[in-house]
Amino acid sequence: MTLFSPRIVDTEFQIVDAANPEPEIMAHAGEIIRQGGLVAFPTETVYGLGANALDPEAVQQIFLAKGRPLDNPLIVHIADWSSLDQLVVAVSEPARLLGERFWPGPLTLVLPRHPQVPAEVTSGLDTVAIRWPDHRVAEDLIRAAGVPIAAPSANRSGKPSPTDAGHVMEDLGGRVELILVAGETGVGVESTVLDLTGPVPTVLRPGGVTLEKLRAVIPNVVVKEDLQKSDVGLGTPTGRANEGVPPSPGMRYTHYAPEKPLLLIEGEDGSQPSVEKILQAVDQLRAQGHTVGVLTSSENAALYYAAANPPEYVRVIGSRENMADVALYLFKILRECDLAEVDLILVESFPEEGLGLAIMDRLRRACGGQVMRI
Ligand code: AMP
Ligand code: MG
Repeated sequence: MTLFSPRIVDTEFQIVDAANPEPEIMAHAGEIIRQGGLVAFPTETVYGLGANALDPEAVQQIFLAKGRPLDNPLIVHIADWSSLDQLVVAVSEPARLLGERFWPGPLTLVLPRHPQVPAEVTSGLDTVAIRWPDHRVAEDLIRAAGVPIAAPSANRSGKPSPTDAGHVMEDLGGRVELILVAGETGVGVESTVLDLTGPVPTVLRPGGVTLEKLRAVIPNVVVKEDLQKSDVGLGTPTGRANEGVPPSPGMRYTHYAPEKPLLLIEGEDGSQPSVEKILQAVDQLRAQGHTVGVLTSSENAALYYAAANPPEYVRVIGSRENMADVALYLFKILRECDLAEVDLILVESFPEEGLGLAIMDRLRRACGGQVMRI
């Protein structure tokens, strides 16, 4: 059966103890998954929208509920090592080492797909992405369901990922049978996606496990070049380009994007421009008739407030000294951008080391690849 529109359902909510999930609620959630339904649940990264990974029709509902392009494959979530046998044909030595070091945790491994995994999950690829999430609710759900759970982030396709259950309701209310509510997630950016099926282990999406940590286990890990970057001049701040070769299936789509136009600010040489220079850019944009906001760090915020003509909206993402906090609040703040009463928002860049690599990847995508070099 081919379906073209999402199933409309009464969405049920259950508040769950994140540290010690109530067994009867988890049994109920597991039953919904086994029956082919959708359950939104917290993980340590963001909230996921889960279905039985071995049930093609249930998996199809994920794509319909999110409005997700069918060629963007899903991550399959497990909560024990033995589940791997039904999902992949071989677990290589690097896969075993990385799994032992980082699972449960925010690392997704792309491995050779077992024929039993429906093509709907992998968008027809002969590889499959697997992760063991580090959250009691996610683990208990997988165990209660008794099947691996395919789950992308629980947002409408293209929107910032949900870091609390309210975001899930905003995007997917009426399209998901059950939302497990268990507070805010702890990491804030999604898992690192690492492809182990090629000659060299390659990061397809930077995320919660940093490149530095991966290299401590597998020294030859490389990062797939992000070719999505495109520049705009000051004259066209609201245009959205989305060109380039996708580094991973699904990565060519605009992601994490508020409705509000965002512009990433970088120096000519890739450095981070001073607040003084950014204020000059704000003035120039104002002269062109725009009202302008800025997303900044706590270190710089006071400099904007003290400016002769401060931007109309200044929002702190977090401290440059604490990138884990920046990651944690990033998506929530991107959602808030739509409420800011300005025409466009300039986004400061962060150093691309540690979690900064994932943060900058998400910011670039939130900006639809729009970069202003000053
Ligand atoms: P999300 O939408 O947050 O669940 O993202 C899942 C990510 O994993 C997307 O970037 C997918 O392109 C990527 N992914 C899933 N399966 C595969 C696969 N078999 N090969 C490469 N990337 C994958
Ligand atoms: Mg997503």
